[in-house]
Amino acid sequence: MYNLVIFGPPGAGKGTQSEKIIAKYNLAHISTGDMFRMHISNDTELGKRVKQILADGMLVPDSITIDMLEEEVTNNPDVKGFIFDGFPRTVPQAEALDKFLESKGSKVNLVLQLEVNQDIIKERIAERQKVSGRADDDASKLIKRIDEYFSKTVHVLPYYQAQNKVDKVNGIGKIDDIFDDISKAIDKSL
Ligand code: ADP
Repeated sequence: MYNLVIFGPPGAGKGTQSEKIIAKYNLAHISTGDMFRMHISNDTELGKRVKQILADGMLVPDSITIDMLEEEVTNNPDVKGFIFDGFPRTVPQAEALDKFLESKGSKVNLVLQLEVNQDIIKERIAERQKVSGRADDDASKLIKRIDEYFSKTVHVLPYYQAQNKVDKVNGIGKIDDIFDDISKAIDKSL
């Protein structure tokens, strides 16, 4: 199995690039943000628990997130590998993922860090909000999400750097050019 973590701040282009990676490399996409939004729109028990947390731009507690992710991986036993998008977002999530994959005889092969500066992020999300209707794309909630990123999520990078798994890609430019750089990084790690 080949497992890729796509990593970057909100608005870095993780979702857009994930779609292209899936099409080329035939991996299964797990986006924890999409999964939470699906639960919320279906009004499931989990959806009810996390609705306000997402609307506020806060992180969902690790235990809820990890359980949901592990279930999704377990329910897809026959895939070539996964692309994890929006997960892990904390060091305990990264540790849980390593342990879990190890129990399946697998591991994280590559962490792709999409680098984008804060000004670009704010511009992109303001654009996205016009079409996404996402409550958490609102300016004040975005500040909270960026805060969560810089206080909790950035620490995931040194965790993976210590394992020599991080490759950086510049996330600013044309979507296809960024994807070319991503493809090169993936090809090197295969
Ligand atoms: P972004 O555009 O910020 O990358 P996502 O769609 O990945 O947004 O996530 C949206 C929201 O879902 C987050 O702000 C958070 O509330 C919740 N969420 C998603 N993934 C996680 C995670 N791994 N841990 C905790 N909360 C998460």
